[in-house]
Amino acid sequence: MIVMKFGGTSVESAAAMERVAKIVQERLDRRPVVVVSAMGKTTNKLLALAGAAVEGRREEALEQLQALREYHLKEAGQVVSEAEEAELEAVVTEHFRELEELVKGLAVLGEVTPRSWDAIASYGERLSSRVLGLALRRFGMDSAHVDSRSVIVTDQRHTQAAPLSFETYSRLATVIPRMAERRVVVMGGFIGATEDGVTTTLGRGGSDYTASIVGAGIGAEEIQIWTDVDGMLTADPSLAPEARRVRIISFDEAAELAYFGAKVLHPATVLPAIERNIPVLILNSRRPQVEGTRIVAEPVPCANPFKSIASKRGITVMTIQSTRMLMAYGFLKRIFEVFDRYETPVDMLATSEVSVSLTIDNTGRLRDILEDLRQFSQVVVEEDQAIVCLVGDNVRATAGLAARVFGALARLKVRLISQGGSQLNLGLVVAQQDLEEAVRSLHREFFSDLDPAVFD
Ligand code: ASP
Ligand code: MG
Repeated sequence: MIVMKFGGTSVESAAAMERVAKIVQERLDRRPVVVVSAMGKTTNKLLALAGAAVEGRREEALEQLQALREYHLKEAGQVVSEAEEAELEAVVTEHFRELEELVKGLAVLGEVTPRSWDAIASYGERLSSRVLGLALRRFGMDSAHVDSRSVIVTDQRHTQAAPLSFETYSRLATVIPRMAERRVVVMGGFIGATEDGVTTTLGRGGSDYTASIVGAGIGAEEIQIWTDVDGMLTADPSLAPEARRVRIISFDEAAELAYFGAKVLHPATVLPAIERNIPVLILNSRRPQVEGTRIVAEPVPCANPFKSIASKRGITVMTIQSTRMLMAYGFLKRIFEVFDRYETPVDMLATSEVSVSLTIDNTGRLRDILEDLRQFSQVVVEEDQAIVCLVGDNVRATAGLAARVFGALARLKVRLISQGGSQLNLGLVVAQQDLEEAVRSLHREFFSDLDPAVFD
């Protein structure tokens, strides 16, 4: 069995769903279990109209709901066979009738609780999974719909619920493999239910997490995350157009990349699968012939010192200097207490005898932070900086890397360096206006000759 997860853009239209059907059909011998996100931007739209309802814009909310209903009928109508049309109508009508009741209720109450937020948000995947199941039939596949809320059992933390693994895995193992023997199982991502049957969601973007949990629960041989890019690349192609695809990467490296800016997939969401040693593939539903990126549990041997360059704009560097002559003990503690107090994460850090430089990307509480820090230190703030982060687990084993990095950046001013924290990355800060040049120079230095086993 394999799990195939399709994101919102992969099912946003009739044409997109037709591509999905073909992709699934070509993999029938692997017994696919399909996990699907809401169609297109449906989740955002549901939440927006719920917001309108509670703010007293009831008619507007109902109009938006009507538009969403028409969107579903129009796109789905084109991929469902005549024989299934009545069923499609019935499914859409029933779900939107319930939604209408909910929205009217919200308009009366004037507030959305986390529990009702989940109830509303769940309809995107409840609909898309039914629609895709019907669409697969039109292409000659026998599909079976599973309501994820009957197998993904979660705690009660609405909007951010965590699956109870024991119960969830045992239900998945009982229900899914048997059904998947002769039929393509289709289920919605993102949604679950408490033990009492109350609908929950796993957090925005949660369908990847569902795919991973399903894969772990049924002991899938592989989990495929179908999206709209070719996989992870050696750099952001808008900065370095010569960026190439990374064919295989370890989970730890992928996590490091995500943290410093890569947007394809947050690897934390696939941890349940990785822990069970199930490989995760990132694939492009518009270009299914591309083999994508494989994320594996083990380190990946590679002749290049790095796998990829991540980058992140909009960084603020703060240099904090002790007002005493030397850095007394307790200085770092006092600094971090301030960031803790204002719930602002620190990304990179470098220290010297009397001063500390660090970066933040969330400046929402900067004024408060500065006020507190200035009670015991001098602070200089520089905005419009960027982080460049070279990621690869050869960092620890390769001599002379720093010299090559600085050689490549010789013409630029490097604001801050950090290496050794994670053993997996070498991070630098440059002015945002120098970011493109920094990434291109580093890419030329480290990715001109590529290990063909690791890069495309
Ligand atoms: N539809 C949900 C969201 O938009 C879950 C997902 O797409 O993964 O957040
Ligand atoms: Mg997503």
